[in-house]
Amino acid sequence: MSRVLITAGGSGIGRAMATAFAAAGHDVWVTDVDADSLDALPAAWRAELVDVSDEAAMAALFERIVAEWGGLDVVCANAGIAGPTAKVEDVAWDDWRACLDVTLGGAFLTAKYAAPLMKAQRAGSIVLTSSTAGIYGYPNRAPYAAAKWGVIGLMKTLAMELGPFGIRANAICPGAVEGPRMERVLEREAAIKGMTRDDVYRGYASGTALGAFVTAEDVAAMALYLGSGGARMVSGQVISVDGFTINPDPQV
Ligand code: NAD
Repeated sequence: MSRVLITAGGSGIGRAMATAFAAAGHDVWVTDVDADSLDALPAAWRAELVDVSDEAAMAALFERIVAEWGGLDVVCANAGIAGPTAKVEDVAWDDWRACLDVTLGGAFLTAKYAAPLMKAQRAGSIVLTSSTAGIYGYPNRAPYAAAKWGVIGLMKTLAMELGPFGIRANAICPGAVEGPRMERVLEREAAIKGMTRDDVYRGYASGTALGAFVTAEDVAAMALYLGSGGARMVSGQVISVDGFTINPDPQV
């Protein structure tokens, strides 16, 4: 049985990850900034309000994990915010910084505090949530794409630096995932591109070889694998769960 920390586990992909790990018999510890979503989680899960971009709060979280669990086997650095949907010249500096702080800075802080625990154990798996935006870029989403490319650079570095201690690091790149977050993105992109929400949706789906959106459960299944012993020689990898992107910006 593994001890698994999942950031942004209150909803969406993070919640699906926690559900998958818990169903497989592992202990899960979930953090989020949304109190209502945490209140709705199963009582057996540890759940608490922690902002991934707040270093003091993250340091205190890992102290509690050591006190209660004595270590950590798997960490899913999953938190990320969409940032603005705007042409690059219209992106406000504050919006750029907010997106980078949570999406890249949060992944960094999660790894920074997980590393000493895992090094002491000489074992561990770090699973970072990037995005297909971190492979191809993403028109009208400059801060998000830059942050998700950064997550891959961070992951590659972690895999090299921590590999000698038996610690693996991998990044999952989901494509467009069904759910409220993509609904908000679809509405915003429809407005900026002068299209309907349904046209943007069809564009995303037809931009993949499998012709469909991903589900949060598809992404969670990959996280569960990467956290398992079956993946013991898998590290430093960028793994897409996207139905095979064949056109990263089909609307243009
Ligand atoms: P979501 O909006 O459904 O859930 C995100 C969760 O993150 C929310 O519960 C929110 O409260 C929490 N959160 C926001 N800011 C936080 C912070 N500072 N600290 C801790 N928690 C915070 O989003 P999702 O679709 O589940 O996204 C999860 C991850 O997957 C993100 O990194 C996202 O960029 C990535 N991703 C999502 C998609 C998609 O299509 N939904 C595609 C590729 C990658």
